[in-house]
Amino acid sequence: MRAIIINTPQHVVLKKVPQPEKKPGEVLIRVRGMGICGSDIAAYKGVNPLVSYPRVIGHEIAGEVVDIPPDEPSLKPGDRVVIEPYVYCGACYPCSNRRTNCCENLKVRGVHIDGAMSEWCSHPRHLVHKVPAGASWDRLAMVEPLTIAVHAVKRACLVQGEHLAVAGAGPIGLLAAQYALVVGAIPIVIDPIDERLAAARSLGIPFGINPVTENPVDRIRDITGGRMAEAVIEASGSDVARRRNLM
Ligand SMILES: [Zn+2]
Ligand SMILES: [Zn+2]
Repeated sequence: MRAIIINTPQHVVLKKVPQPEKKPGEVLIRVRGMGICGSDIAAYKGVNPLVSYPRVIGHEIAGEVVDIPPDEPSLKPGDRVVIEPYVYCGACYPCSNRRTNCCENLKVRGVHIDGAMSEWCSHPRHLVHKVPAGASWDRLAMVEPLTIAVHAVKRACLVQGEHLAVAGAGPIGLLAAQYALVVGAIPIVIDPIDERLAAARSLGIPFGINPVTENPVDRIRDITGGRMAEAVIEASGSDVARRRNLM
């Protein structure tokens, strides 16, 4: 099969590699939709110290089931699935506290182990989730980043009418702002690129601030009647955004 491999930082190739072997308890998947994450770009640039090379990148994966473990009642070949790319051990202290994202032996696809920017992948059954048959591959590739955004908003424990400031109107920031709307909160996105603010508006996000032309702290004070935002999500990766006090 073909796979996208980063051999060494800044050297990416499309290469023929052996098809993955389905280990016991795994689902063999034909990959049909794939997102490019900021962490894939960090792997390419060589700025993620957790990535070892050569590495097949890609963890935002949607695909079609090809083969399932024996006696698997709830999946069948042809089903559409998305995967949790964070392979945890289930035995360490964080895993015992259901903080599997902090697993001491965590293996993230595309980082510690090969990702799935390839034609096929094989993945543990309990980390494979069936999704509706009619969902498009492009949308399904957004499920993994959506879970990141939903988790962040849930941890903020916002209630109806509270304000959420989101620094960065990239995919994660926009998904977080949209989920804030779902829980009845009022999102305010901050981004220096006007096209991204326009995209936010088109998604129904009521407030956008360009920090190059406006003072975000003053604007948020205005929008919130002086109360400031109850929560802030930093989704830009920018040091300037991290240092701002928007709460
Ligand atoms: Zn990602
Ligand atoms: Zn663990």
